[in-house]
Amino acid sequence: MSELSVFQRNISAFFPEIELRFDELLARHTSFRIGGGAEVMAFPQNANELSALLKKSALLDWKFAILGAGTNVLAPDEGVQGLVICLKDCLDGMRQTDETHIQVMAGVTMSRAAVFAANLGLAGMEFAHGIPGTVGGGVYMNAGAYGGEISDICESVQVMDYSGEVKTLSRDQMDFSYRHSCLEGQNAVVVSAVFGLIPGSSDEIRRKMKDFQQRRMASQPLDLPSAGSAFKRPSGGYAAALIDQAGLKGYRIGGAAISEKHAGFAVNLGGATAADVKALLDRVSETVHNSTGILLEPEIRIW
Ligand SMILES: Cc1cc2nc3c(=O)[nH]c(=O)nc-3n(C[C@H](O)[C@H](O)[C@H](O)COP(=O)(O)OP(=O)(O)OC[C@H]3O[C@@H](n4cnc5c(N)ncnc54)[C@H](O)[C@@H]3O)c2cc1C
Repeated sequence: MSELSVFQRNISAFFPEIELRFDELLARHTSFRIGGGAEVMAFPQNANELSALLKKSALLDWKFAILGAGTNVLAPDEGVQGLVICLKDCLDGMRQTDETHIQVMAGVTMSRAAVFAANLGLAGMEFAHGIPGTVGGGVYMNAGAYGGEISDICESVQVMDYSGEVKTLSRDQMDFSYRHSCLEGQNAVVVSAVFGLIPGSSDEIRRKMKDFQQRRMASQPLDLPSAGSAFKRPSGGYAAALIDQAGLKGYRIGGAAISEKHAGFAVNLGGATAADVKALLDRVSETVHNSTGILLEPEIRIW
C-alpha cells in the first residue's frame, strides 16, 4: 500500500470513529462508472458525524465535495484532492410525521422513499420512483420526471451549513426552478426533507410507478452506465430531439457516445474517461448550436 498523505493521516487521527477510505475510486460511486481516486472518502452515519466533518473542514480549510448516489455527476479522471463526503445509505431513515407527511433523510434513495409512501397509501411521489439518486441529490437538483418534480411535494428541507448548524428552509426559501434549488452555490448540505402527499390507494400508486418504470425501460438505455439526461431542456425544444435531428445518435468519442436508444443520454460504452464525455458534450452542444442557434447546457454536474 502506498504511503498515506499528510491529509489522510490527519483526518484519520481526528476521526477514528468515522468510516474513511483512502484513494477510493470515484468510478465505484458514480453511475457513469467514471472518475479517479478521492484522496479521502468519508461515510458519515448520522448528522453528528456529518457536522463534525463539516466543522473541521471549515476550520482547517479542507477542500470537500458532497456526493449522493453519484447519478448526476461526472467525476474527473485525475480524481479529487481533499475530501468527498458520501451520503448515500449513510444519512438513513424515514418516518411518517402525520397523516399526509413523510420526513426522509438525505441518503435514502428516491425509489425507496416512493415505495415507503406507496405502502402508506400516500400519492404524489410516484414520479420519483425510477430516478436513481438520493433524496439529498433530488432536492439539490429539484429532480423530476413524468410531469412531477421534487418542488411539487417538498414542504421543507433541513440543511446543515458548513459550521455544522442545522436550519429548516421552507419550499419558498428553497427557490426551486427547473433542475435548480437555492442550494446550488451555497455552503449547505441537505440532511432531510419533508414531503406533503395526498391519501390514495396503494394499488393505484404502485400501478402508476410500474407504468413509469416500464416507460423508462422502453425509452432509456438503462443497460449502459450514464448520468441520465446529459443536457437540460432548452427553451424552445427538447435536447434529445435536437440532438437526434442533428444526426448525432450514436456519435462517439473514445468510450463515450450519444445513446442509440435515447439521444438525450450520453453513455459509457466501456472504458470512457471524463475527458471523452466532456469532449462529446462540447461537440454535441456546438453542433446543435450551429444548426439551430439553441444552446444546450449540461444537466450533468461536471466536477
Ligand atoms: C438512468 C438515469 C436516469 C435518470 N433519470 C432522471 C430523471 O428522470 N429525472 C431527473 O431529474 N434526474 C434523473 N437522473 C439524474 C439523477 O438521478 C438526479 O439528478 C438525482 O437527483 C441525483 O441524485 P444523486 O443522489 O445521485 O446526486 P449526485 O449525483 O451524487 O449529486 C448531484 C449534485 O447534488 C449535490 N448533492 C448530492 N447530495 C446532496 C446533499 N445531501 N446536500 C447537498 N448537495 C447534495 C452534489 O454535490 C452534486 O452537485 C437520472 C440518472 C440516471 C443515471
